[in-house]
Amino acid sequence: MQWLSRHDSEVAQLINNEEARINNTLDLIAAESITPPSVMEALGSIFNTKAAEGYPGKRFHAGCRYADALEKLAILRGKQLFKAEHVNVQAHCGSSANLAVYFSVLQPGDGILSMKLSHGGHLSHGAAASITGKCFRFQHYSVDPETEVIDYEEVGNLAQKYRPKMIVAGASSYARLIDYERLARIANDISAYLLVDMAHIAGLVAAGVIPSPVPYSDFVTFTTYKTLMGGRGGVIISRKKYAKKIDSAVFPGSQGTPALNQIAAKAVCFKLAMASEFETLQKNILKNAACFAGEFAKKGYRIVSGRTENHLVLVDLRPWGLKGSRAESVLESVGIILNRNVIPRDPQPPSVTSGIRIGSTAVTARGMGPAEVVRITGLIDKALQHDHRKEVLQEVSAAVVGLCLAFPVYR
Ligand SMILES: *Cc1c(COP(=O)(O)O)cnc(C)c1O
Repeated sequence: MQWLSRHDSEVAQLINNEEARINNTLDLIAAESITPPSVMEALGSIFNTKAAEGYPGKRFHAGCRYADALEKLAILRGKQLFKAEHVNVQAHCGSSANLAVYFSVLQPGDGILSMKLSHGGHLSHGAAASITGKCFRFQHYSVDPETEVIDYEEVGNLAQKYRPKMIVAGASSYARLIDYERLARIANDISAYLLVDMAHIAGLVAAGVIPSPVPYSDFVTFTTYKTLMGGRGGVIISRKKYAKKIDSAVFPGSQGTPALNQIAAKAVCFKLAMASEFETLQKNILKNAACFAGEFAKKGYRIVSGRTENHLVLVDLRPWGLKGSRAESVLESVGIILNRNVIPRDPQPPSVTSGIRIGSTAVTARGMGPAEVVRITGLIDKALQHDHRKEVLQEVSAAVVGLCLAFPVYR
């Protein structure tokens, strides 16, 4: 940062502080990963300078020779990686990717059926506070009260009752695989489109370690910075017949110029995701998440839906009489970073919650395995059970620092 440290020592200092924070804490936030240095170089590159409204070969600015080549490369790699018919790499984030999909084939006021936010869905799936909820008439399906798995029968019933134009699957705090084939049949029965938002699990899908929604869906959206481990940004996959509609819903429909530096980062992340090391990493992410679930269960916590089949675990703290908000802050004080999370039918509001969400991506990327997962779960339990004993919390902090030193973020 030779320029930045000269021109803006305040921002440079904050970046240094943030780097130290990441190095010296354990990141269990399921929506985060570790950004590879090559991706960061692409993000910070000269492509940030270029304005390139439009698409390769059809720009509204001159000088797009390399911009076109870059965007084409990103699209080509995205198609290869996900076996997709059409890929749009311009969406600035996951939420704008979803917005573009809705507006590509629907009219304002049309009905959409999606997963309830409090059962694991996402704000951009029709929350009242989101523009998506203001523009379309959303109905929501739930998880079964007993199994806490998506109630597919209810999805079918709601689909027949409301006849939505689109069904949305995908979630931000759901630890189980989704039956895309069954959802596609339900959507097909009422001639509705199927959108799968695989933001959290795109890396697992790319590596082929869990099933892909692409063969079953009209549209698939995702972010590149969760398990896919790239830079921040969104991507839309669609069937070829919707290619034009998707592209024009992104630009000029809902965005202006694409962020070419982000597109460069997307191209790099797609390439990294094709390597065999990436597959190994994603397998280990699954293994570690399953290990977290098993360890928390052994210590008397309740695992929502009983187990995990992806990179995240939703832990119900009520067996120990704990609250998510308290757990989040106690753990942050000892260097373990995770978020409180509502669990299905949570008696607590989102500001408090009865649960915490644990993701295995970042610690796995640091090289940690089951032995460290057992250790970390032990440390979390210790901190939570003795949250008022300063000497215990100090002991846990020291152990966290030790683990961080043994497993540097960038090796
Ligand atoms: C994270 C997430 C998104 C949103 O991504 P942003 O880039 O923050 O807009 C969308 N959908 C789901 C299911 C997510 O988990």
